[in-house]
Amino acid sequence: MKQSKTYLKAFKFRIYPKGDQVTHLANNFGCCRYVFNKVLELRQKAFKEEGKSLSYFDTTKILPVLKRQEETKWLGKAMSQPLQMAAKNVDSAFKNFFSKKAKYPKFKCKNSRQCIKIQQGFRVEEDLLYIPKLKTGIKINLSREIKGKILYLHISKSTTGKYYASFTCEVPREQYDKTGNAVGVDVGIKESCILSSGKKYANIHALKKLENKVKYEQRRLSIKQKGSNSSRKQRLKIARLHERIRQLRETCLHNISSDIIKNNDIIITEDLSVKNLMQNHCIAKALSDASLGKLLTQLEYKSEWYGRTFAKVDRFFPSSKTCSACGAIKQDLKLSDRNWTCTTCHHQHDRDVNAAINILNEGLKKLSGLVTKPDIKQKWDEASSLEESENPDA
Ligand SMILES: [Zn+2]
Repeated sequence: MKQSKTYLKAFKFRIYPKGDQVTHLANNFGCCRYVFNKVLELRQKAFKEEGKSLSYFDTTKILPVLKRQEETKWLGKAMSQPLQMAAKNVDSAFKNFFSKKAKYPKFKCKNSRQCIKIQQGFRVEEDLLYIPKLKTGIKINLSREIKGKILYLHISKSTTGKYYASFTCEVPREQYDKTGNAVGVDVGIKESCILSSGKKYANIHALKKLENKVKYEQRRLSIKQKGSNSSRKQRLKIARLHERIRQLRETCLHNISSDIIKNNDIIITEDLSVKNLMQNHCIAKALSDASLGKLLTQLEYKSEWYGRTFAKVDRFFPSSKTCSACGAIKQDLKLSDRNWTCTTCHHQHDRDVNAAINILNEGLKKLSGLVTKPDIKQKWDEASSLEESENPDA
């Protein structure tokens, strides 16, 4: 596959709107939310009453109508591109839902994260950001250089009241030097990640602590009177904790994926969607999967950015129980066995590293074209009967 010479990258900065700038943004957030909800309502109605699905093109026609109507005339004061993008977002939300990438689109409410997308008519001068229909520049903290060609801008307001500007740019591809290394990546529970080379990235203990704090503050919220001042303050406190958890997790995942990409030419991971089919689910597990899924996604796109080879393998084989040295299967391996010795070849294994090596070997076979489709089907059948007897790694 030939790689394109550029890729998309977002550069995100804090911005500090003041006075009428805050009002301008609030109006635009509100108008976009209104258009989003209106279009969503129309699409639902058309489907319910007439069994018809409206296209993006159908829905764009309602914008001029709304702007003319007396009761929604105020939409005319908002920037027009973000309004179109809001209608477009409904369309994307439905597309993602139908391709099973996302849940059914929900109506946006005032308390959730607010976001608008601007495609033209914005610029940064010195440390000020200028956007359409606003004469003054908003103070922006340009903490790093924006590289490449700017395509569009997202302005958002977090649930904790912080404002951000995120520029999506077309950036020329960089290539890392070749290292001669190939690596298999096994993701365990609790945000951990194990490499076939034996390297382990530890769980983030700080996260656990914060998560407990969230639980505690949530209990405190539940005894406060709904709609009261103190309940609102408590809600904000919880949102701030969630924000910190998200940032911490994000930074940690990016550090891990960058480290792996920098030090290896070939990266093999397992296909989590396949793994999920085989395991029982609980909420904690789903959460940890979501963040591990993110890590695998980062590995995939960063491989593309930096010219690395990336492959996913179906986890059809019992990767913990298979000896990576000789291929023998240890049937009686227990979940508590962190280390084990192969009875066939006497190789000593660390349970997790062994699984990562199996992933690497399987991926290398796949890349060289040794694994054919019927083979996979057969192994699937064998594995499902084996894995049923194995406890999920939770
Ligand atoms: Zn062996």
